[in-house]
Amino acid sequence: MKSHLLGARVLVVVAHYDDETIFCGGLLASLRDQFTSLTIVVATNIETTSAPRAQSLPPSEGELERRRLRRTAFAAVCRLIEAEALELNITNLSQSVTRDQDCYSETTLGMAAELLSSIQPADFDAVLTHGRVGEYGHPQHWCVHDAVMSLPFPAETSIWGFSSPPSHDFEHRHSASTKNELLGLYRDQGDHRPAWVPANDPRLAPWTGDVEWFRKLR
Ligand SMILES: [Zn+2]
Repeated sequence: MKSHLLGARVLVVVAHYDDETIFCGGLLASLRDQFTSLTIVVATNIETTSAPRAQSLPPSEGELERRRLRRTAFAAVCRLIEAEALELNITNLSQSVTRDQDCYSETTLGMAAELLSSIQPADFDAVLTHGRVGEYGHPQHWCVHDAVMSLPFPAETSIWGFSSPPSHDFEHRHSASTKNELLGLYRDQGDHRPAWVPANDPRLAPWTGDVEWFRKLR
């Protein structure tokens, strides 16, 4: 995988603010000086982290503050790793959606169209995005995966999905302290919520150490 990233124009497409840090922040930080350029696209808007839904209640003041903090954290991560940031603000799918539902295909098609109006596939040599199973199974992660895989990238562009053992093809070891620094930028959730500590979340804990896993998708 490293040989594909050397000198590459790298595109990262993720569903949520923080996915870029959780699933590949260690790799991006440790190899950034070997890329020609780095662009990170966050596809969806911020609703709630635990239960994104298509129909949101009007957000409370605390929730608005939390969203502002997450956007600020994303901007800080992008500054630290010298990434160009793009935010598409597409509404999150419900957590219970399945791949065979109409709303899933509509959102995936709409996302692919939005991506095509924001980036030129031919501008990238390597792409990192969610795996087909969405890591811990988040439907919004599958949707981003499916939208990215439908884009007309040149045949020589390599595409890598976030993965975990045993289905990975590549394991990247990095500095846990650098990754922790990036994760730490997201920790503050405002006065109305506890701090965000991914190591305490069993779905995210595997990605809080010094290893990240990737699977070659194409
Ligand atoms: Zn996510």
